Amino acid sequence: MTGGIVNNLVNSAQSENIDDLYEEASHWHVNTGDETIHAKRLAGRFRTYKWLGHALYLLFFLGPYLRWEDSQAILYDIPGRKFHFFDLTILPQDVWILSLILMFFAILMVVVTAIVGRLWCGYFCFQTAWTDVFTWIEGKIEGDPAKRRKLDDAAWSSEKIRKRGIKHTLWLLISVLTGISFTAWFTDAYQLWSDLFTLDAAFMSWVTIGTFTAGTYVLAGFMREQVCLWLCPYARIQGVFYDRDTELPTYDFNRGEPRGKLRKGENTEGKGDCVACNQCVAVCPTGIDIRAGQQEGCITCGLCIDACDMVMDKVGKSRGLVRYASLDEIQGIDVPPVYKRPRIIASSALIMIAVFGIIYGLTHLGSLELKVLHERQPLFVQQSDGTIQNKYYFKMLNKTDKEMQVKITVDESINGLTMIGADKTIAVGSGDLRSHTIFVKVPNGFISAPRLPVIFHLSDASDPDTMVTYESMFFGPKH
Ligand code: SF4
Ligand code: SF4
Repeated sequence: MTGGIVNNLVNSAQSENIDDLYEEASHWHVNTGDETIHAKRLAGRFRTYKWLGHALYLLFFLGPYLRWEDSQAILYDIPGRKFHFFDLTILPQDVWILSLILMFFAILMVVVTAIVGRLWCGYFCFQTAWTDVFTWIEGKIEGDPAKRRKLDDAAWSSEKIRKRGIKHTLWLLISVLTGISFTAWFTDAYQLWSDLFTLDAAFMSWVTIGTFTAGTYVLAGFMREQVCLWLCPYARIQGVFYDRDTELPTYDFNRGEPRGKLRKGENTEGKGDCVACNQCVAVCPTGIDIRAGQQEGCITCGLCIDACDMVMDKVGKSRGLVRYASLDEIQGIDVPPVYKRPRIIASSALIMIAVFGIIYGLTHLGSLELKVLHERQPLFVQQSDGTIQNKYYFKMLNKTDKEMQVKITVDESINGLTMIGADKTIAVGSGDLRSHTIFVKVPNGFISAPRLPVIFHLSDASDPDTMVTYESMFFGPKH
């Protein structure tokens, strides 16, 4: 489908000559936030990359329907305080792994921004993606930017009501689907649809769907690029990550200036390559002029590069007047390779630490967790038969998604050691933390020191290989 859209756009762009482009862009003015931006759509490399980036959101819509062993493969079970990811179940005790994953993405964002600017914003951000789809629908129904502006200004008529009605209906459908898809990550997706149709869905499901439907409709349909310019916190801090070597869509002012319109028969000697056609700004989804230099509003989508390349092709000049380039490169200063830039080296080191931590965490998640607390008051009790008794509190956590029958055993490293309270298996529910009390007795004559190590094991009765060990102490009198 994407290919078809792209081809249509290519054809429409190629049918224009440079005079048409001047005429069309004469209405354009810089975005000051007081008017809806109706950006022109052109085909090109970066437009294709943008569609491919947006296509990743198919995972957002389809992901909740993936099944794994009769359950939802990826499920954020908030009431059960568990995160299921295929075979893995992450409990609150393992939340440090999720923190590391978040840290990984946060630092990755810093590194990527330092190298190529707001790559996330231009190609992957949900706000950009949804806005792009919404404006694509708008274009299909209301026509090209000039027609859309005309329709904005026109009085209400049956034609305007029809077009606006179709557009808003489609926007709302996408918004509702977005709300349901988001909610489906937190509850069984198939059950959610059934509950929605029978009006039996949980109150929180309705609230979440309603909130996300309204948010999507307003943010992507009405606020659009204003979110990138005024609301997004990342937009405000990204400048900190840039340096003179960051590659951004940049206008090569050395080559482009002095700019001027192409006129038939005019001697272009002494003029720059920019033909002042305004196409780079007409296609900009945030409505800025890249020729004014790097700006906060630029989401580095590269659409102005596609537009300028198309114009350069038309006027027979080499592409790249607007291109991904760093400030130093444009000014003819040598740019060090990425791996020699201190900021990149430091951030990459942090990323590696996070990656090792995540791998370690995921490979050491285990199915069972055991903590043994020794009774402190009193440390031991001398029984009437002369044996010394210690008391232990077991905390057993079943990290699987099935109930487990567990068995407690002890290394018989102390002669005469017996355990009370461990003769039967104990049921521990999925994700449950179960407490259990154990007494350990040793005849006084076998106690060779006031502190002796004692090693407990906790194992799955049906799979003895699933075992965890805890080393504690056995206390007795001084001899
Ligand atoms: S200036 Fe170019 S790269 Fe930046 S947002 Fe506009 S079209 Fe995208
Ligand atoms: S930079 Fe390129 S697209 Fe922009 S006005 Fe100049 S020639 Fe036209």
